[in-house]
Amino acid sequence: MKAEILAVGTELLLGDILNTNAQYLAKELAALGIEVYYQTVVGDNPKRLEETIYHAFSRADLVITTGGLGPTEDDLTKETAAKYFGESLVLDEKALAQIQVFFDRIGRTMTENNKKQAFVPEHNSVVMYNANGTAPGIIIEKDEKIIIMLPGPPKEVVPMFENQAKPYLAKKQEYTFISRILRVASVGESAMEEMVKDLIDAQTNPTIAPYAKEGEALLRITAKAKDEEEANRLIDPVAAALKERLGKSVYAEGETNMETEVAKLLLAQKKTIAVAESCTGGEISSQLVRFPGISEVFLEGCVTYTNEAKMKRLGVSAQTLEKFGPVSQETAKEMAEGIARTSGASIGIATTGVAGPDGGTEEKPVGLVYIGIYNNGVVEARGFHFAGNRNKIRERATFQALDWLRRKLQYEK
Ligand code: ATP
Repeated sequence: MKAEILAVGTELLLGDILNTNAQYLAKELAALGIEVYYQTVVGDNPKRLEETIYHAFSRADLVITTGGLGPTEDDLTKETAAKYFGESLVLDEKALAQIQVFFDRIGRTMTENNKKQAFVPEHNSVVMYNANGTAPGIIIEKDEKIIIMLPGPPKEVVPMFENQAKPYLAKKQEYTFISRILRVASVGESAMEEMVKDLIDAQTNPTIAPYAKEGEALLRITAKAKDEEEANRLIDPVAAALKERLGKSVYAEGETNMETEVAKLLLAQKKTIAVAESCTGGEISSQLVRFPGISEVFLEGCVTYTNEAKMKRLGVSAQTLEKFGPVSQETAKEMAEGIARTSGASIGIATTGVAGPDGGTEEKPVGLVYIGIYNNGVVEARGFHFAGNRNKIRERATFQALDWLRRKLQYEK
């Protein structure tokens, strides 16, 4: 089945809103194994909308529209599609009752033009009642062409697609495509690809696709299968082979992120932590406290920017700062140890670096960041070179610090 996504709305053409519906639908259709050949955007203009629908059906079997199902006169998606299929519209009492219920719930009076939304094609159609808004969605299927019309607001589109349109489409597909993502930290996308290239080349089902996301690299394993169980059977051995090859760098599977994984490890191991940050400016603390329940283990975070702060709050010695400088392995160690000691936490983590754009020297260039970790009575610090502007350097240093801690928690215990 070849599909086209057609977003209707002048706001989209003007750039006032982002076409997130198209992004969502494209991903969902790919997962269903339905190929999307075109994505189109058209304004609320009857003539151009009509042309676009005809054009879309000249090259696709399935057209999914979003928007233009509203109560106003320029909302014409349904009328135009009905015309294309030669269907007349009739009042659907159930849709009307649902719209009434929706208005009662939000405490507003239903206007006469809202009734327009309750008209549906008389034949060859399925009405997708809308629990989150007024406009019902509609599917028309005739002569091997299908149009699925969804409302505009994403909070209506997502549940309607998920609960109603997706099962309708899934029934037509012999196969589904199911993906699993492996998240890889501290190995760049190309280095990762190099490490697993033979595995990628040897696979046809499932396929393996590497791609980069900010700070991490991802491997998407996609199986074509009859159902989830079969897909998992195909994916499991491939995921295991990739994990073996990439070792400790694979930090998680699926939709998650580094701070979540670190927070989970800290909580599972009941290890308390305190953070002393210079160049990352509180970012490590901020990321950890996003995790609900972190207060059980997160004791405190300090932003110790000046030498004085490092001495006063963390007990970094004046000699260390004098001899090695604030951006040094020695200072990072004393910071990590200092925050653990003064807070009573079992883990102390610290950063100190040159985030730029100024302040770099030949010996200590912009992007040089030392990370210190105190754990189990042992303190270590390492220097890293991060590329990018000031904020990228800060973000990358944060990710690296959390990843180093993750490796210690996971593998050193
Ligand atoms: P309603 O159910 O509200 O009557 P509708 O079908 O008439 O919806 P529109 O009026 O086209 O939809 O859009 C309503 C709102 O939905 C827009 O103002 C916008 O915020 C959001 N929206 C519409 N299309 C998209 C899109 N493609 N991606 C993301 N958001 C969208």
